[in-house]
Order: sequence, then structure tokens, then C-alpha cells
Amino acid sequence: MSLTEHLLARIAQDGPMSVADYMAECLLHPTHGYYTTRDPLGARGDFITAPEISQMFGELIGLSLAQSWLDQGHPDHFVLAELGPGRGTLMADMLRATARIPGFHDAAEIVLFEASPTLRDIQAQSLRGHNPRWIDSVTDLPEAPLFLVANEFFDALPIRQFVRDGAGWRERLIGTDGGTLAWGLGPQADQVALKDRLADTEDGDLVELCAAAIPILTVIAGRIGSFGGAGLIVDYGDWHSLGDTFQALHAHERTDPLSTPGQADLTAHVDFEPLALATRAAGCAHSRLTPQGVFLERLGITTRAQTLAASLGGSKLEALIAAHRRLTHPDEMGNLFKVLGLYPSPSSPPPGLEP
Ligand code: SAH
Repeated sequence: MSLTEHLLARIAQDGPMSVADYMAECLLHPTHGYYTTRDPLGARGDFITAPEISQMFGELIGLSLAQSWLDQGHPDHFVLAELGPGRGTLMADMLRATARIPGFHDAAEIVLFEASPTLRDIQAQSLRGHNPRWIDSVTDLPEAPLFLVANEFFDALPIRQFVRDGAGWRERLIGTDGGTLAWGLGPQADQVALKDRLADTEDGDLVELCAAAIPILTVIAGRIGSFGGAGLIVDYGDWHSLGDTFQALHAHERTDPLSTPGQADLTAHVDFEPLALATRAAGCAHSRLTPQGVFLERLGITTRAQTLAASLGGSKLEALIAAHRRLTHPDEMGNLFKVLGLYPSPSSPPPGLEP
């Protein structure tokens, strides 16, 4: 049975499904899911991420976390964790950049949270010699100081969409029309989680809710708040969601999210305010939401690019210049992507960020 047939059968049996259920099926179905069956990253895949654009991204993230570790008295055992590590490139670059920091590698227990067996195999290859361990739930993170990065992880978590209707909301649902998947709207209802959004929306406005992000962030912020550490959450999005940001990417082109289930990457912009609220509720501090370009410039990406440029020429030099621009320029990823830093209240945010 193909994924489309499976989805049509599920809708025939249970009725229209939420965007969240559709995303979860398309991305993580055990045999047909987008992430479970392939390596989606890079030029031949469907999308490219910052660590795949340049080694500089992972190097600077690694140094920012390592500086936080030093500032917090370099605990002799800590967890160095990543959520959704993709090909393992970011963690490999972080480890290379921090190899000469005395004691850092010896104190680090490397823990990866990854749902895809295909990507776990690729991560094992990229991180050969570093002895990483995989967990199936963030609640399995050890109770120890936690230094964590998540790049383009939260945008892959399932969201629900709601359209404002008077003092209530109608959920956007996926049903069928003539044997194909089609959009529809559920009945008008109150939504407790959206009561604050009645103040800043009008009839017909669409808002998104990512319930799955909250328990994950609560655990991470709880560990950092109680045991020390730092977290860097990097993703595209903003403080508050407004409008439809659900999108499908296939071979670097946008496609209709309902047309090829399981064949395209599905994402939504990350709404950072609920993440920040969950962080504070768990007893942890967070930084200002900072554009990726500003964060990387403060960490010295231009100096690092100049050092790398000194030994390059021709097309490699051009590629480096293009990568620097792509990561930092406001018209490219510099503004669209944001960084939220987590840190224990008495200490300072990780370098590159402000309280
Ligand atoms: N951080 C990497 C990859 C981003 S793609 C990079 O920057 O290149 C999203 C990653 O999150 C993939 O590794 C994907 O398999 C993983 N992922 C998506 N949903 C997940 C979930 N619910 N639980 C665990 N991992 C998930």
C-alpha cells in the first residue's frame, strides 16, 4: 500500500485529519515516511541546511557552547546533545573546532535525538571515533549539565492550523475530494491554547500551533535550568506566527504539500514565543531572539572566512564567499533564520547572544 492509499484509507475510516497528523505520517511513517526512507539533504536532495553550506556554521556553534562550558566552571561531565542531527555534519564540525579546548572532549557524552534510522546510520559514519549514543525520547537525556544544539529541527515538528471565526476557531483539515486529498475546515470551536491570539487576530486570519515542541523544550530547559549548560535553537520563523507557513520542498522547489505525500519535505515556520514561554516556565533563562546573521557575525564568521580564504583560490574561494553571504546576508538566511539561546539564570547567554 502506498502512503497516499494509506492516508485515503485512514481518512475514510476516521474522517478528515489535522495538518499535524498529516505531517507526522508523511515525515515519519515507519516504511513510507520522508525522513525514515532517505537522506533529504544537500544538492541532490530536497533542501540544504546551514551546516551543509559551510563548516563555519558548526565551528562557531561549537565554540559558543564550549565557551559557555568554560564560563560555567568546565564541569567534568556534561552532555553534548543535538536534536535532529541530519547527516551529523554540524556535530562533526563542532567536535573538530573544539578538539583543542583542554578537557572538553573528555568531559563530553555525545547524545543524539534522531527519529530516522537512515539518518542515524549516516550520523554514525560522520561521527566515527566519537562514540555517540542515540535516544528515542528527550526524557532519556541524562540528568547532567546539557550543552545542546538544534538546527532546523523544530520546523519539522507537526503543526495544527486554525482559521479565526468570530470568537472561536475552525481547524484546517485534510480530507478527500473525488479520491484525492483535499483541504477543508472543521467546525467552529473554542481553543484554549489560542485564547491569547484573539487579541491580535481578525476574522479569517490563520494561526499555527506546534504542540509537540513544548514538552521537548520543557525537558531541555529543565535540564539546563537545574544542572547548567546552554542551548542554541536555530530555525526559520519569528516570535509570533501569523498566516500559513506550511510548505513542501521537493528537489529545492516548492510543491503542493498534498500532491506527493512522503516524497517532499514538509515544514512550518517556528513560532518562538511559545518556546520562550516554555523555557521560562521550566525555570531556565533565554536570550533575545537574534537573527542568524547577527549571531554569526558576533562570533567572528568574517574573520574565520578570511582565514579559510587565505589558502583557497578559484572556484573554492568563490564557494566560500558565497557560503558566507548565504549564511549571514539579510536577503538570504541571515534574517529569516533566528537563534534562541537557553542558559541557567545566574550565568550569561552563550556568546553571540544577549539576555
Ligand atoms: N540539523 C540538521 C538536519 C535538519 S533536518 C541540519 O541542520 O542539517 C531535520 C532533522 O530532524 C532530521 O535529522 C530529521 O530526521 C530529524 N527529525 C524530524 N522530526 C523528528 C522527530 N519528531 N524526532 C526526532 N528527530 C526528528
